[in-house]
Order: sequence, then structure tokens, then C-alpha cells
Amino acid sequence: MFKWQQAEGKRHALEGPFAPRPEETFTALCGAEVTVARSDVPQLGGHWFDPTCPECAAEWLRRAEALRAELSRAQSSQVERVWCAV
Ligand SMILES: [Zn+2]
Repeated sequence: MFKWQQAEGKRHALEGPFAPRPEETFTALCGAEVTVARSDVPQLGGHWFDPTCPECAAEWLRRAEALRAELSRAQSSQVERVWCAV
């Protein structure tokens, strides 16, 4: 599961079930290790005015594509198994 999180001047993407809290460091999809500030958390009054990290966006797309390909492969192999059983 991916999510966006603004940190250190860019909106990065990360993988994980929870959004990082202020002062927490996370490794973004682009490989950057960034620390979240209070002003990066909308629930604490922060605003996401920073630009999207292009490397994270590309990596997000690449992983989403890979996941989709894997899913459709799994589905088609299931169809094949059913077909063979008939
Ligand atoms: Zn990034």
C-alpha cells in the first residue's frame, strides 16, 4: 500500500500501513531518507504545498504496473488451470 507524505520540501511516496508522525524519518520510494515536520502533517495544521517528488511518482507507477501485471498473470493462470481441468 503506497501513500504520499510531504517531507523536507517534497511530497514523497512511501510504502506502509501507517503515515509517519512528526519527527519520524522514513525512506521514500525514491530512496531518500526524509524526516517529517509538524508542518508536513495536515491533521496538525500543515499544508501540502510542496511539489511532488518525480522519482517517487515514477517508482509508484512502476510498482503499480508490476502489481497489475502480476495480478493479471495470476488470474490468467487460474483460468488455464480451470480450462485444463475441464
Ligand atoms: Zn521521493
